Amino acid sequence: MDIQAFFKLSYGLYVVSARSGEKKYGCIVNTLQQVTAEPPMLSVAVNKNSVTAKAILDSGRFCGTVLTETADLHLIGTFGFKNSEAVDKFAAFSTKEDENNIPYLTEHAAARYSCEVAGTLDLGTHILIIGKVTEAEILSDEPVMTYDYYHRVVKGGTPPTAPSYKGNISHKPAQKAQWRCKICGYIYEGDPLPADFVCPICGQGADKFEKV
Ligand code: FE
Repeated sequence: MDIQAFFKLSYGLYVVSARSGEKKYGCIVNTLQQVTAEPPMLSVAVNKNSVTAKAILDSGRFCGTVLTETADLHLIGTFGFKNSEAVDKFAAFSTKEDENNIPYLTEHAAARYSCEVAGTLDLGTHILIIGKVTEAEILSDEPVMTYDYYHRVVKGGTPPTAPSYKGNISHKPAQKAQWRCKICGYIYEGDPLPADFVCPICGQGADKFEKV
């Protein structure tokens, strides 16, 4: 099987969020999509070990938010590479709460969809969650973030927990020397890697980088 073939699939970049009691949960996904129009339903595949997945399944509700191209590595690092049990991921950003008190981003966001869980499918490493949309709202007219834009322009990595993880194989041959963060996959271009370099996605130091 040529796993490069999977690079031909296109995705967006989204935050799915949930609430369980007082606790707020959220994580980045690239697998949110509309699956039916009447009634409007979305599907999302979330890693089974994710605390956000547990909160969605416990509460039976979630909110999906479409990120815009303005979403930077600080936002993606916070929602993509930190744990909602350890930090309030929403604290540093402008947010609102939907009718189910689920937080969602109001900056770097194009639209949000509030959903109730209508079904699930166990996929082994991930769980596919079907959500019936109960509320939808446009948040801005900024261009939406595609996964391709994230890799090409934002130069972000893919965590091993993502459904589309392929070992962080580059889309194109490297032109310059590259250093890869062993934690999140972020690629630094240049040589040498500065000794005081801090990964802009996951916050780890230069000792966690390896030369590609
Ligand atoms: Fe990193």
